Amino acid sequence: MSIKAPKGTRDILPSEVKNWQQIEKNACDVFTKFNFKEIRTPIFEDTNLFERGVGDTTDIVNKEMYTFLKSDRSLTLRPENTAGVVRAYLENNLYRESPPVKLWYFGPMFRYERPQAGRQRQFHQIGVEMFGIQDASADAECIMLASEFLKSLGLNDLVVEINSLGCSKCRADYKEQLKKAIAPFLDKLCDDCKSRYEKNPLRILDCKNETCNKLFEEYDLKNSVSGIKLCDECSDHYNKLKQYLNSLNIKYVENTFLVRGLDYYTKTVFEIKSNNLGSQNAVCGGGRYDGLVETLGGPHTPAVGWAMGVERLNSLIPQLNEDLIDFFVVSDNQIEAVKLTCKLREHGFSAEFDYNSRKFAKQLEKAAKIAKSAVIIGEDELKNGYYTLKNLENSVQEKVSLEELTAIKK
Ligand code: ATP
Ligand code: MG
Repeated sequence: MSIKAPKGTRDILPSEVKNWQQIEKNACDVFTKFNFKEIRTPIFEDTNLFERGVGDTTDIVNKEMYTFLKSDRSLTLRPENTAGVVRAYLENNLYRESPPVKLWYFGPMFRYERPQAGRQRQFHQIGVEMFGIQDASADAECIMLASEFLKSLGLNDLVVEINSLGCSKCRADYKEQLKKAIAPFLDKLCDDCKSRYEKNPLRILDCKNETCNKLFEEYDLKNSVSGIKLCDECSDHYNKLKQYLNSLNIKYVENTFLVRGLDYYTKTVFEIKSNNLGSQNAVCGGGRYDGLVETLGGPHTPAVGWAMGVERLNSLIPQLNEDLIDFFVVSDNQIEAVKLTCKLREHGFSAEFDYNSRKFAKQLEKAAKIAKSAVIIGEDELKNGYYTLKNLENSVQEKVSLEELTAIKK
């Protein structure tokens, strides 16, 4: 039996890779404008990093990690990259640079989840992390960056949802309120929610289980709790964020039930959603994580960032066509064909020839499929030292010298 790609993974084929290249290019261009620098960290890390960094009450750490032992060392394929970037930031003393330190990454992440539309076991994220700034201008900058990047891909109609989770002081009272409101139907909720009830009741609001969501509605959960009551400091921070967003003309919707699935968030959280993605509708998620650098052994460092799912993003943009190459060299003289192909490549063009030296008609057929122009070297061309250049879009032919050919503007 033939071997298939593991469940939840997929190949990105040459016919679709153009979109990926475009996404990466736009990310690099837009992030560079905002003075973010790329960082590339390992795909696997010490398991401990995620247990401490992502949080051992999260679904990711409890159920979704690809963990393996190598000589008694427990390693894990990264399920997300904020923890890895923070580790690199500390290990390489990047925190000694004057703040802010602004980083971005692109790469595969691994989560053992149930594969479905918009949800894979190996998927890709583009993300940014901004270290060292407490002021809400950093949060606004990150949201603006996401929105500019999406705009660069022609996506103008996505919805930015924001909320503030406050600090642990603000959350204590809200957790109790939520527990009280949930208690009457706790026994009907999924097992995950039951364990969240004790460990982190806020995350019950992020449950993806349909039965749980129906129960929340039936028991009118969202109206029976008041939302997080922010302390003065957190409330000022949240108001400032909204002021910044207003003055930057970034549209947003406040969602007091937006909680996010990871443990490390403080104050600002946000998601960017699309109405065209079905139930996995979040393209981007992020927020402020002022405690994480310290949790991972560094100095107190405020920080904010986001991660975007590239597969979901890609499904929102139209499929780009593969590029045509510049020239296809058509000839029954293999040596001349190879020589000219190489010359053209040396001059910066993309060029190809027929490796099987088939009949002219066949070669021209192939050329029409993959190239903008054909360069024909036939008997007369060889004898009289010229090339026939055929524009494959309008079929116009002309005689050209090598100098004229290589001087053509791309
Ligand atoms: P979701 O609520 O959809 O599970 P999440 O809260 O787990 O998302 P984050 O960990 O914040 O997501 O990751 C940010 C983005 O990465 C998501 O908004 C989504 O676009 C993408 N993403 C997360 N998990 C997957 C997955 N298994 N397959 C594809 N994309 C994913
Ligand atoms: Mg998830």
